[in-house]
Amino acid sequence: MSDTANYLSFNEALQEGLKGSKPERRWLVPLLDCNEDDAQELYKAADKVRDAHIGPGIHLRALIEFSNYCKKNCFYCGLRRDNKDVERYRMSPDEILDAVRDAYRLGYRTVVMQSGEDPWFTEDRLADIIRRIKAEFDIAITISIGERNEETYRVWKEAGADRSLVRIETTNPELFKKFHPDDDLQERMECLRNLKKLGYQLGSGVLVGLPGQTPEMLADDVIWLHELGAEMIGVGPFIPHPGTPLKDNTGGTVEKTLRLVAVLRLVFPFAHLPATTAMGSLHPLGREKALKAGANVMMPNVTPIKYRADYEIYPGKICTGDDAAHCRGCITGRIEAIGRTIADGKGDVIRKNTP
Ligand code: SAH
Ligand code: SF4
Repeated sequence: MSDTANYLSFNEALQEGLKGSKPERRWLVPLLDCNEDDAQELYKAADKVRDAHIGPGIHLRALIEFSNYCKKNCFYCGLRRDNKDVERYRMSPDEILDAVRDAYRLGYRTVVMQSGEDPWFTEDRLADIIRRIKAEFDIAITISIGERNEETYRVWKEAGADRSLVRIETTNPELFKKFHPDDDLQERMECLRNLKKLGYQLGSGVLVGLPGQTPEMLADDVIWLHELGAEMIGVGPFIPHPGTPLKDNTGGTVEKTLRLVAVLRLVFPFAHLPATTAMGSLHPLGREKALKAGANVMMPNVTPIKYRADYEIYPGKICTGDDAAHCRGCITGRIEAIGRTIADGKGDVIRKNTP
């Protein structure tokens, strides 16, 4: 941490970002750690970069939370295996197909299939579900099910999965170790590199506001994601869950997360950056704020309503009482209210990010 002396002023740092300079702490930290006035300027700059590179369109991804069983015990997450207050559910393959059908009917051309790390969904079972979806619908599939070995991810890719989403959460070794009793940072990094190698459109991301996290650590996350060649980057505030060991911690904030979204837009002009549900859960206009600070993706929920409330990764999660059609209407209204449009098509990677 002795490189503080090299840090640029806010204005100099913003210039580096606008020039598309290689991401380095000396300019990332002054932006991630800037004051509220400067932050407004940072958001505007990121918004312009988004507009210039990808225009006003917002891509919609329909989220299906198909199982809340999890064999892991991540310290921050409400679905961790030791949280006995969770009513566990697992959607059947037919129920998943029905949810995709709903999504398709509502006009979505991407589904994000997300779950806890649930061993019931073996390589074969999930491959079969992916094949069934691809046989019936012209729709892109993102899988967000945590870490699996390279061979399994290869089989799923061959079955038709287009994209993957595994957040690195934090690249700081101490922090990662502290909050992930089941995981190894190097292995998670390897998993992400494998996904890239296998040809997945590559999604990752970080949690903002983990206890002990500093702007330097967030800067290092950005640098690592850049080296990785991430093409979709989801960042959200950590929201403490009462059923977890981190229940008494202060969580992340909308403001800190917005600074990171904006910095990511400067570093990754073409990446897909979602305005995450966690942002909308902390502030009624949290997602809109993200969309005005560089984000270009939203992920409306199409999980059957009877399961929604049980997928409680963090408390206060919005939209748990609204059905898929309601969510579609709500999101459309919010996008139009800020003068943006819904982008057509599947929303594939805009420009391949190969490090
Ligand atoms: N099991 C998979 C996918 C589901 S969890 C996985 O872990 O990759 C999806 C994301 O939820 C995680 O990557 C994490 O960043 C986020 N998350 C978990 N607990 C959270 C909390 N308390 N506040 C905000 N986000 C959280
Ligand atoms: Fe499981 Fe993912 Fe939650 Fe970790 S973050 S406990 S892997 S659902």
